[in-house]
Amino acid sequence: KPVLLWLRQDLRLSDQPALLAALEEGPVIPLYVLDDGAPRQWAMGGASRWWLHHSLTRLDESLRAKGSRLILRRGKSAEIVAQVAKQVGASSVHALRHYEPWWRNAEKAVGKALDLKLHDGGLLLPPGAVRTGAGGMYRIYTPFSRAVMSHMPPPAPRPAPDHIPAPPTWPETDSLDDWKLLPSSPDWASGFGQDWTPGEAGAQANLADFRDEAPDYATARNLPSIEGTSRLSPHLHFGEISPAAVWHHLTGSDEGTNTFLKELIWRDYAHNQIVELPTYGSANARSEFDALPWRDLKAAKEDFTAWQQGRTGYPIVDAGMRQLWTTGWMHNRVRMIAASFLIKHLLIDWRHGARWFWDTLVDASYANNSVNWQWVAGSGVDANMFVRIMAPLVQSEKFDAAAYIRQWVPELADLSDAHIHDPDAHGVRPRSYPPKIVGHREGRERALAAYRQAKG
Ligand code: FAD
Repeated sequence: KPVLLWLRQDLRLSDQPALLAALEEGPVIPLYVLDDGAPRQWAMGGASRWWLHHSLTRLDESLRAKGSRLILRRGKSAEIVAQVAKQVGASSVHALRHYEPWWRNAEKAVGKALDLKLHDGGLLLPPGAVRTGAGGMYRIYTPFSRAVMSHMPPPAPRPAPDHIPAPPTWPETDSLDDWKLLPSSPDWASGFGQDWTPGEAGAQANLADFRDEAPDYATARNLPSIEGTSRLSPHLHFGEISPAAVWHHLTGSDEGTNTFLKELIWRDYAHNQIVELPTYGSANARSEFDALPWRDLKAAKEDFTAWQQGRTGYPIVDAGMRQLWTTGWMHNRVRMIAASFLIKHLLIDWRHGARWFWDTLVDASYANNSVNWQWVAGSGVDANMFVRIMAPLVQSEKFDAAAYIRQWVPELADLSDAHIHDPDAHGVRPRSYPPKIVGHREGRERALAAYRQAKG
């Protein structure tokens, strides 16, 4: 009897426990369901769809090389999985567990109709595996990270099977092109292919490249002008590589590697938070932020658009926003600066920024995006950072962003290292580059006043 392998954000054949377990039961039918209904407002954004298209293409190729293939269907997960199971006479379904609230609901629905067997493998440890002394979930990152570390290393990754036996007949499949996941007129993703190779092989290549750089990560990760990070985020998000495989590949015990592994634990931390608080993407985790007098988006529309388009007059913010638009990714240090600028200097609700990231990031992840936006806002469960207002110009100098700005804001390419961070202040701003849309002190004071008002 054939067995279904229900794939979601786990588009890989290596270290894929659901696949290995399915193979023990019978011939496997790998099924991907494009379900835009279940996540509702969190249906995949444009950049993620670009990634998904290529990742599914690569996965189908890898499956075919092993005697199998990928079945594509579109619709409600529970209905489609049940339909395909009925068609092929399968009663058993294997899948990796996922923690987005809509996936947990879909898992319940599939489990009602069929024998669904869920496996761990998307995180270093399943949420709730480490608990505080009082038995609750950790809300603060540092003790969480320490607790996770004490359970590491994760189990060694298991290789992909050599062969995946096919069922006697294959169910019908959609054509991937009919899903129209790729943008057209305009093709704003035309540059993505230069930076990214979606799929398992691309993930392995990024990991292999990063191995030699890991010892420098502790400092290099903060410098947007160099490629000092792994660029694994979209691969991890789509499950093209397991975090356990990443862990085991980096065997150094140096400071850089350790710092990197702690960042990887942030991903686990964020997923724990959305299990505890499934509304993390739409509701302040600290309710006092509900009273914060954000500017009305209609009134602040021009500022919001300037931020989206990278025309705020703050070179580091603009470089980041343009990198995001052009490549689907932004350096972490710059994500923090750009998010902080929107929330504090422009006093625009973090949710609007998070939505823009959701649509434009190839690594858009409900857990990582929501938890990081709320972390910058100060409205998250971890430390309240609202009053720690980042000065974009100081950050830009401190982290040596001159080359990064030259790359992404070509209007400023001729300015010296000393002037490029703040051309206005030095009187060297070219006419093609906008003046600051808000002064640093003015923005800062407005934000602090709003915060005082919220606190009553
Ligand atoms: P590396 O530095 O090489 O880190 C390795 C991996 O660790 C990453 O791939 C990622 O999976 C994980 N990681 C690193 N930092 C974090 C973090 N702060 N939180 C959670 N996981 C982390 N990351 C996403 O994957 N998706 C998002 O939607 C996302 N939105 C963000 C929004 C804001 C406002 C901020 C400040 C950060 C956001 N991040 C998000 C976290 C971080 O910026 C990216 O994970 C990182 O830049 C990805 O690049 P990398 O793979 O080279 O990271």
